[in-house]
Amino acid sequence: MTKESSKAPPLYPKTHLLAASGIAALLSLALLVFPSSDVEAKKTTLSLELESPAEQLTQDQDAAEAVEATNESAASPFAQIENGAEETQETAEAAPEPAPAVANVEEKKSESHREVIVAKGDTLSTLFEKVGLPTTSVNDVLASGKQAKQFTQLKRGQKLEFELGPDGQLTNLHSKVSDLETITLTKNEKGYTFNRVTAKPTVRSAYVHGVINSSLSQSAARAGLSHSLTMDMASVFGYDVDFAQDIRQGDEFDVIYEQKVVNGKAVGNGPILSARFTNRGKTYTAVRYTNKQGNSSYYTADGNSMRKAFIRTPVDFARISSKFSMGRKHPILNKIRAHKGVDYAAPRGTPIKAAGDGKVLLAGRRGGYGNTVIIQHGNTYRTLYGHMQGFAKGVKTGGTVKQGQVIGYIGTTGLSTGPHLHYEFQVNGVHVDPLGQKVAMADPISKGERGRFLAQSQPLMARMDQEKSTQLASAKR
Ligand SMILES: [Zn+2]
Repeated sequence: MTKESSKAPPLYPKTHLLAASGIAALLSLALLVFPSSDVEAKKTTLSLELESPAEQLTQDQDAAEAVEATNESAASPFAQIENGAEETQETAEAAPEPAPAVANVEEKKSESHREVIVAKGDTLSTLFEKVGLPTTSVNDVLASGKQAKQFTQLKRGQKLEFELGPDGQLTNLHSKVSDLETITLTKNEKGYTFNRVTAKPTVRSAYVHGVINSSLSQSAARAGLSHSLTMDMASVFGYDVDFAQDIRQGDEFDVIYEQKVVNGKAVGNGPILSARFTNRGKTYTAVRYTNKQGNSSYYTADGNSMRKAFIRTPVDFARISSKFSMGRKHPILNKIRAHKGVDYAAPRGTPIKAAGDGKVLLAGRRGGYGNTVIIQHGNTYRTLYGHMQGFAKGVKTGGTVKQGQVIGYIGTTGLSTGPHLHYEFQVNGVHVDPLGQKVAMADPISKGERGRFLAQSQPLMARMDQEKSTQLASAKR
């Protein structure tokens, strides 16, 4: 069970909890909100910044608002995207559409073309009236088919365009209902034909650069990175960076991502193509690569997997004496109990290695587990090593360990029948079988694809360098 969490969860001020109206919001908070000063104080003796409680509160409220704001904009993707477009370098050509101005009816060159902008209280009838069409033609239009009724779902600011024949009769009516969709009615002998045209966006890449000065979510929003891309970035770097607790002022990021564009206007985003994240002076890189089998994954710029491959077996020359199961008879308690780990029998004193890089949450006694080490790996993974004879030199609660580092030795402390390692693996707090397929053990780029990978990776890294220096230079001016 997970009762072995030795560390209290980070304390969030009330404002945060109020803002968190659902699990998603809580997740955002955990991922994106700057750690509270309490946590900060525990972690470092040197406080980065002295803040009065009042200032702290304001900052936290801001952060909470920012989370709310990003949630709101996530609900209306277009608003979000337009925002982002302003900040990105690539969107210079995106000419803003003229705002629907005061004039409701606009005479154009051609006598047979009329445009009208939907205003408050308008109906299709009032709009037809405004362009001089008789009420009967509204009826004709609506009677022409079910789909024609889509012209009655009017939004303020929507533009309706009318083409009139020489006799003043309506020949064509069309309107853009979104950045991607236009609906059209065209007159034929029998009535009107309805058509919906969906524009196919072109895909280009966009770049953003941001420096964190309060919270990741605020800084990302300011840089023009959408909420969902910010979450994507946190997940790409989630193996290396603890976004809940390790984010510091001055951390920075560069992201190149796919942007969907229609008529020069950004209408949506695709995946992150490459990213860099500098956390406390250490820079991590990520490049998305689709291998020849068609599987996409993120790798470091030099081709290693972003998912740190865990060592599958933390003890060399050991024999599996008990497998992972949801129900087995406990050898000592003589009761049916789930065995949420794998037992490796080996001679007393055999070294036990850390399955991956991480923080030592516990190196000490833990009930029936006896001498136990618990390691937290990034945000997602946690491993536990039980029944140890003793701990390796330098392994202590609060410290860090490297993958493969010896953390202790096989023993039989706690509820144990003989010398063995009891090994548990958790993904987001859920026990999984370390021998099973559920745990992602990603491999680096294969030798055969290395050239192809670097041909994609190197230009992306070079571009981030170049775009960043251009942006910094223009900021100085
Ligand atoms: Zn066991």
